Amino acid sequence: MSDSYDIVVIGAGPAGYHAAIRAAQLGMSVACVDKTLGANGEASLGGTCLNVGCIPSKALLDVSHRFATTKDFAALGLKVADVELDLAGVQAHKDSVVQKLTSGVGMLFKGNGVTPYQGVGSLLPGSDVKVTKPDGSEETLVAKHVILATGSEPMRIGAAPVDNDRIVDSTGALEFTEVPKRLGIIGAGIIGLELGSVWARFGSEVVVLEALEKFLPSADERIARDALRSFTKQGLDIRLGTRVLHSENYGDGVRVTYLVNDEEQSLECDKLIVAVGRAPYTAQLLDDDSAVNLDERGFIFVNEQCETDASDVYAVGDAVRGPMLAHKGMEEGVMVAERIAGAKPSVNYDCIPSVIYTHPEIAWVGQTEQELRENGQDYKAGSFSLGANGRALASADAEGMVKIVSDADSDRILGVHVLGPQASELIAQAVIAMEFGATAEDLGLIMFAHPTLSEAVHEAALGVAGHAIHAVNRQRRK
Ligand code: FAD
Ligand code: NAD
Repeated sequence: MSDSYDIVVIGAGPAGYHAAIRAAQLGMSVACVDKTLGANGEASLGGTCLNVGCIPSKALLDVSHRFATTKDFAALGLKVADVELDLAGVQAHKDSVVQKLTSGVGMLFKGNGVTPYQGVGSLLPGSDVKVTKPDGSEETLVAKHVILATGSEPMRIGAAPVDNDRIVDSTGALEFTEVPKRLGIIGAGIIGLELGSVWARFGSEVVVLEALEKFLPSADERIARDALRSFTKQGLDIRLGTRVLHSENYGDGVRVTYLVNDEEQSLECDKLIVAVGRAPYTAQLLDDDSAVNLDERGFIFVNEQCETDASDVYAVGDAVRGPMLAHKGMEEGVMVAERIAGAKPSVNYDCIPSVIYTHPEIAWVGQTEQELRENGQDYKAGSFSLGANGRALASADAEGMVKIVSDADSDRILGVHVLGPQASELIAQAVIAMEFGATAEDLGLIMFAHPTLSEAVHEAALGVAGHAIHAVNRQRRK
């Protein structure tokens, strides 16, 4: 007899495991099917995020940042003997964090009564799910509701086919056992900048080839400009407006040919990372007769509530429209579990924070000045430089700024943009303020502890009305 559940979730990444745990908390019987196997051949829950995404990349970013900043110790009055890199030790640290967190999801499943199934899940017509196990055997799970959370995979380009040796994607770039002397990266997006920073800090000469003429077009223009200057100073050679034509092996490395200003140029490197975006992953997921549809870009088609075209089937996370961010998928997973239980929550897609974990970090939420201008919306802006923030100066880490934009009439905050250390933490204050519909004046009236980086958020809010204390405001307003 088949096992039956209130909910079967396919995919145990952040979107799927959040949905499964929340549904179990709400008293439903839940199974979660995932196919990922770890290096030891055992199930490894947590999806891209925990296995080969957010967590391992942040382990390498944080360790490499500490390594790089030891060069600045002398200026702070600290003498240290030469700090040496033990890359095997760094990778062991990264792997141990991944192991801890992926096994932690297993423990959370156990504690909450979620039944894990190892294998490939396929949605059959209706809402039953077939599980194909690693030994080839099959089992059918009977489900009242199904949540599809199968995530995404790296996009490929014909001009640089990944061979997992010299040409790698983000997963391969987390596993280097030696620091490449010359590292090429295709794509100056989030992965290109984060992994480029890691390997530049460990000593690689990094060249990044980016197709667009404009650097980080989704970020605030001023912040993107300052960030580009900062990353260039750190040794990232970012070449904009390039069109990669082809790549070929030569000697022990790769030669990439590209066009810039109609001129053919070439780049020789030991390793090449292809980081040109990610695509939704739905291979083997949908039976031909399932009523679930994909959109023209291959995402599972859903409405605002993550309902697919098939009744009782939902889809969440990277496999559906919207930014491919772990926290966006987590909130969708929780929303769907709660809606199945009869509640009516929704996800506020206008308030999703974006973070790039370089140094300085870049973080934003809401709209940029350029978007507001394009939409013809009147706004006010206030910004504050970390160069005038006591805590940032005390930590010798004062590169960056906070900018707040608010509606010209109502003063309601429309966007917050941060470049600086801990921008990833500072942006949470902005998300909270925006979720509560705060005005810039509201933020200005709140007391912030001194000395903290958060005071820059306070000063930027005061700056919207021309009242920042530690800056000479262009316009003095009453
Ligand atoms: P996934 O995490 O991709 O999980 C899907 C799971 O489903 C996988 O385990 C997959 O094997 C499994 N699966 C797929 N099909 C089937 C099937 N048919 N049957 C069974 N199992 C199946 N986001 C952030 O917010 N912050 C970051 O700092 C960040 N850093 C990143 C760094 C890198 C290098 C990368 C690559 C991504 C990063 N991301 C980050 C993006 C983040 O990892 C994704 O947005 C997130 O993992 C998506 O979650 P998900 O649950 O939708 O899918
Ligand atoms: P991305 O969309 O951020 O950047 C891809 C870049 O590659 C773009 O700038 C694009 O113009 C460029 N590009 C595309 N084709 C090209 C070509 N042929 N030649 C040169 N440049 C080309 O994608 P990504 O960096 O691969 O990351 C994928 C996704 O993973 C991100 O969109 C993000 O959602 C997620 N992610 C998030 C984080 C985070 O939240 N900190 C970190 C890593 C990844």
